[in-house]
Amino acid sequence: MGVGAEPSTVVAVGLPPLDRSTLWPYEDGQPGEFYYQRYAHPTGAAAEQALGELDGGEALLFSSGAGATTSVVLALLEPGATIAVAEGCYYGTPTLFRELERWGLRHVEFDQTGAPPEGVQLVWLEAPSNPYLTMPDFGAAAAHPAPVLVDATAATPVHLRPLEHGADLVLHSATKYLGGHSDLLLGAVVCREPATAGRLREFRTRTGIVAAPDAAWLLLRGLKTLEVRVGRQTETAAELARRLEAHPKVELVRYPGFGGMLSFDVAGDAKAVETSTRVIVNATSLGGVQSTMESRYRWEGDRVPENLLRLSVGLEDVEALWSDLDQALQS
Ligand code: PLP
Repeated sequence: MGVGAEPSTVVAVGLPPLDRSTLWPYEDGQPGEFYYQRYAHPTGAAAEQALGELDGGEALLFSSGAGATTSVVLALLEPGATIAVAEGCYYGTPTLFRELERWGLRHVEFDQTGAPPEGVQLVWLEAPSNPYLTMPDFGAAAAHPAPVLVDATAATPVHLRPLEHGADLVLHSATKYLGGHSDLLLGAVVCREPATAGRLREFRTRTGIVAAPDAAWLLLRGLKTLEVRVGRQTETAAELARRLEAHPKVELVRYPGFGGMLSFDVAGDAKAVETSTRVIVNATSLGGVQSTMESRYRWEGDRVPENLLRLSVGLEDVEALWSDLDQALQS
């Protein structure tokens, strides 16, 4: 325990104690494993250990998924580098890359179901993409000379371990399924190579894009139920996708066959549908136990169809969700 953290701080059976200390006493005048929170803290180290085991690599936590993205780009690429990024991926990722253009970063979008373009220094895949739900061609990406990162936020390690498919890095917005309860903001990168993890760790300490102990502790709690949650969300989402396909008010359904996220195009006004649900909350984000749905057009503009709705399936009863969707589609 660090200074100021009593053993009674936050303790729950089956979880390491939540230690909020920012400093730990030296041992015989020498820094021990933990000494200052920006470098590392015991709760974060425990969460990194757990996530690393799930993904089969060395995990590092960051303050958010976007913080993890920023750290990968700035720590591992040189000024003037170009990233090939999957088109139709989470819109915040190319938006962030555009923010870094002032620092010489370039990016090109490409269809991740085929081979990445030549002449890029990093290949950025998303499995499945949000909200288009495409899956990458892992073989084509692994054959590319540049390192490959897979944002596996929506797949989670329950469905996909990208390092086993030739990826060098895995990125998670742990805010979503890994946390699972819509009450923490957290990002993670899982590295194949310890040297890459070392460089990212150094960058993280220097820049302070670090995860707080509370968020790390909530991640540890979320991981306990990850498999059960994602399993149930997949069952429900697959059933809803099947029923939506046959619905007369639905033009197109996108679902990769696993995971809790799907998107569909409605015949008519998506705004009227999203504001008519009663069980499903009309809100952004995804991956929680509470189902959420929204028109992505409000954020992404012409990048997505105006009638596209993204649905994140929670743990509610499938029949309650279906009757909610059905009545909203009739609106
Ligand atoms: N990657 C994906 C696929 C996402 O959906 C998101 C957020 O929506 C992010 C990254 C960014 O994560 P965060 O919101 O934790 O910064």
